[in-house]
Amino acid sequence: MESADGDDGAAYRKPAVDDRALCFAHIHDRYLDEELRGAAFEGRCAFCPEDARGPAQVVLVGRLADTVLFALSGYGCPADAPVEWPHGDSHKVPPDPAQAVAEACEPVLDTDVLKAVQDYIDRREWDGDPVAYMPRSSAVRDSWEGLCRTVAARDLDLPDSDPSPGSDRDRLESLMGRIAGIVRGENLVMRIEPGVKIWRGRMRSDKTLPGYRAADIGSVPPERAAENRMSRAGVPLFYGSAAAGTAVVEISARDGRPFAAVAAFETTRPLRLLDLVDIPEPPSLFDRRHAARRDSLVFLRDFARDLSRPVFYDGRKHRDYRPTQYLTDYFRQSAELDVDGIRFRSAHNGGVNYALFVDATQCLEPDAVDGQGTLRLIEGSERVEDLDRSHVTQAV
Ligand SMILES: [Zn+2]
Repeated sequence: MESADGDDGAAYRKPAVDDRALCFAHIHDRYLDEELRGAAFEGRCAFCPEDARGPAQVVLVGRLADTVLFALSGYGCPADAPVEWPHGDSHKVPPDPAQAVAEACEPVLDTDVLKAVQDYIDRREWDGDPVAYMPRSSAVRDSWEGLCRTVAARDLDLPDSDPSPGSDRDRLESLMGRIAGIVRGENLVMRIEPGVKIWRGRMRSDKTLPGYRAADIGSVPPERAAENRMSRAGVPLFYGSAAAGTAVVEISARDGRPFAAVAAFETTRPLRLLDLVDIPEPPSLFDRRHAARRDSLVFLRDFARDLSRPVFYDGRKHRDYRPTQYLTDYFRQSAELDVDGIRFRSAHNGGVNYALFVDATQCLEPDAVDGQGTLRLIEGSERVEDLDRSHVTQAV
């Protein structure tokens, strides 16, 4: 049996770390390409078809893996410190480098090369010589996640006062200030001129035209304003869509009645809006000069996606709405940003939605004159859509 142990020992020999090389045809990011050029040498690519493997500039798979991991660490440049929340930060999961590389490199490396990089990382782990990996922390994203966890763990309802240093309100202000800084830095405040149409609607059980007045279909008074993702109970917010079809999709998602009645308002004064519809594409992960901007844009995109989820009752606990409510409140109150609302994408059809800081007194009837209020119902815009038959009843 002793000799059998020896044979088993051979079977357990450590797998060799990948010593293959690849040419630059398999790398689809110009910054990653630049990072690797200095380590290139003339050799044969193990990933090109065999009949095309002439001498070429190549790099080792291991070198590629190390470079990607170094980029994921932010090229060794520490990010700003996040806002630390005293509770709720307890369950951070240790980072998995192979997983991180897969997420980061899926659009950047050919599939077989990506697989080789992941295998390289796994084999180093197996060899007891794991790759070094310390993911770059994004201050604003980490702070936001910390806030969300804290809110969930403590059912946190922050007081409006107590801005003393170290208080929760103080931490929140600090985080919001950073987010406002990103909004300014990316020029995400836009101005819309009077005359922009915004559609509102209600689900109905029959197809008769309801004959809406602004008072019926505009913002509800505070005592009827229900809680939702962007606003607390009692805080009116005017939700609408740039297209009638988007308004129908939004209201019908949570209501099984067969008819949707919609009507359009138009804006009666210029408005300044936080524009989360067209957030710029983040720079490449491998562009070391723009790592901080990348953090900001990735955060904003994630946040916009959070806001775009259905705004009405979706079965989640209300405290899950607190972070987005805080942030919306901050935008509403910020004298520095001075915005009248938020423009964002519908999660249902990718259309444009508005959440305006407009109460019922600002939603006027069709006979209101220019310069009054903020929104004016458009005479004759009302129509009823039959969701089963796509038939439209329209006022003339
Ligand atoms: Zn090749």
